[in-house]
Amino acid sequence: MGDMRFVADSMLGRLAKWLRALGYDTHYHASYPPEIMDALIGEGRLLLTRHRKRAERSGKTAVFIHGNHVGEQLIGLARELHLTPPPSAWFSRCLLCNAQLGEARENEAREKVPEYIFHQNANQIRFCPSCGRYFWPGSHRSRMVSQLREWGFPVDHNCRATAQKK
Ligand SMILES: [Zn+2]
Repeated sequence: MGDMRFVADSMLGRLAKWLRALGYDTHYHASYPPEIMDALIGEGRLLLTRHRKRAERSGKTAVFIHGNHVGEQLIGLARELHLTPPPSAWFSRCLLCNAQLGEARENEAREKVPEYIFHQNANQIRFCPSCGRYFWPGSHRSRMVSQLREWGFPVDHNCRATAQKK
């Protein structure tokens, strides 16, 4: 997936969440002081924006996002940038805070997640070092994978992202 990193402008919170689900490092706040935005672009992030003027002003460091629906936005962006996120990277980031998920410590996960979840997903439980949430391949993820498939992101059937059969 190369070094593609993003900063999503206001109004693109849902797009940011889906990009994170696909494994992309995507910064998002509902609003940014201009100097913070400049710094994020300065560190090599591509600005995703619904503001045409801002996109034009930023030239090659920005992409104007078409459409109001998140599916339309994600499909359009993937086409424009030729994104082919490998399924092995899907769900490797926290959807809420963008941090890279780590392996959960077994004894801590056992305490923090429901017992049946722990037993069904023993070595697939991930931990967000930033917000402290635990993640595992559950029904929420299944729905997201189906949605991604519907939007045309190919899924490798051997991949962990789809390994959620009961
Ligand atoms: Zn988090």
